[in-house]
Amino acid sequence: MKKESIELWFITGSQHLYGEETLRKVADNSKAIAAALDKSDLIAAKVVFKPVLTTASAITTICMEANNNPACAGLIAWMHTFSPAKMWIAGLKRLTRPLLHLHTQYNRDIPWNEIDMDFMNLNQSAHGDREFGYICSRLRMERKVVVGHWQDREVVRSIGVWSRAALGALESRSLRVARFGDNMRDVAVTEGNKVSAQIRLDYEVQGYGIGDLADAVKKVTEKQITALVKQYGDEYKASAKILAAPAIKEAARIESGMRVFLEKGGFKAFTTNFEDLHGMVQLPGLAVQRLMADGYGFGAEGDWKTAALVRIMKVMAQGLKGGTSFMEDYTYHLDPKNTAILGAHMLEVCPSIAAGKPTLEVHPLGIGGKDDPARLVFRTGLGDALAASMVQMGDRFRLIVNTMKVVECPPMPKLPVASVLWKPSPDLKTAAMAWIYAGGAHHTSFSQALSAEHLADFADMTGTEFVLIDDNCEIGQFRKELRWNDLYYTLNKGL
Ligand code: MN
Repeated sequence: MKKESIELWFITGSQHLYGEETLRKVADNSKAIAAALDKSDLIAAKVVFKPVLTTASAITTICMEANNNPACAGLIAWMHTFSPAKMWIAGLKRLTRPLLHLHTQYNRDIPWNEIDMDFMNLNQSAHGDREFGYICSRLRMERKVVVGHWQDREVVRSIGVWSRAALGALESRSLRVARFGDNMRDVAVTEGNKVSAQIRLDYEVQGYGIGDLADAVKKVTEKQITALVKQYGDEYKASAKILAAPAIKEAARIESGMRVFLEKGGFKAFTTNFEDLHGMVQLPGLAVQRLMADGYGFGAEGDWKTAALVRIMKVMAQGLKGGTSFMEDYTYHLDPKNTAILGAHMLEVCPSIAAGKPTLEVHPLGIGGKDDPARLVFRTGLGDALAASMVQMGDRFRLIVNTMKVVECPPMPKLPVASVLWKPSPDLKTAAMAWIYAGGAHHTSFSQALSAEHLADFADMTGTEFVLIDDNCEIGQFRKELRWNDLYYTLNKGL
């Protein structure tokens, strides 16, 4: 699925040395590549050809235009011929959009019998792209380098992954996160510097008293409630008795009020805190689940970093198979022959990851001291998934990703919450050890749609440290990587 309103600009570098005819061929070839990328379903936005760049002023202009155009999510650059890279310094220095360097060549094969000096004059990316690579490295520019023929599926896939990360980075620029109440008292990892987050990741975080939300909830009409409860009956497994329960009406009232509040403020992510519910009758459970299913990011206990991450990952995953949800590593199965992690939360797991129709239920919660809340109960589809955690290390943000396999979960008749059972890569012991050494949070954004590469690309675009725990993770090496990263992020301020 393509987001037609968002553009990736295809830019080609050259110079005037070769004459008009060569430059015309350069433009034709570039148009063909841009059109082919634009046609591919693997790439999540429109790919737009831009006129071939042969001067420093044209390069600077296009970079500034990219910065200023809210529809431009990033640039794909290719040097068909040699493009002396001093011309690129001014533009690249000013570029604030993500950059992908496509190191490709128009022709796949060398035409052994026909190759002549004209051919050599035109097809120079093997050395032209190296000159461009040098100046990007010299400027310490974060970018993704993709190598191979432009019709090769793996090349297009890799550009496609980057295009989704670029959609996430673009979303982050306009994202507003609402916090209802502060974060949970005494908790460390959900704290953080919201100014640093805005400087580094662009999104803004705004706090509200829970009373502001309670006011919006109070204004909900009986008619709105009836309509929502009917919708619950259509979308979920729910008995007539449950649908008539006062707790369900109350949940609908909360959902309706929350929607109004969030829409009015232009918020696409939010947090709640069970310690701060004055004026609310129950902890928002069903409302949070349904808002997440509609694309909102969420973090419990005031966790705004996870709320923002869930939203950004949902945008990155648009149109892909599999859902994305707020998640928590809840409890372990430590049978040495069959270790696994049970992921869940009190209530707030997104039904986008549900296998089958969720059941609507009302049960006591045990914390928060409020009425029994409504929630959707379900299991999750099996297969590949990952969990991602964004933490603040003081001087930087660190994104930790663990790949995993969701496995069959035995029945748990006394646990009426949405849950996921998974086996982390490479194994529970190594994964948990690495996660803890890295300082990963207990809250995560869990996704069955995205790969680690999506998140690595996003981290690069936002200057975020990225550490991956997958099948190749070895603890000794991983700990060294963390130490080296500490050193790098201390020293790189001077680069
Ligand atoms: Mn929690």
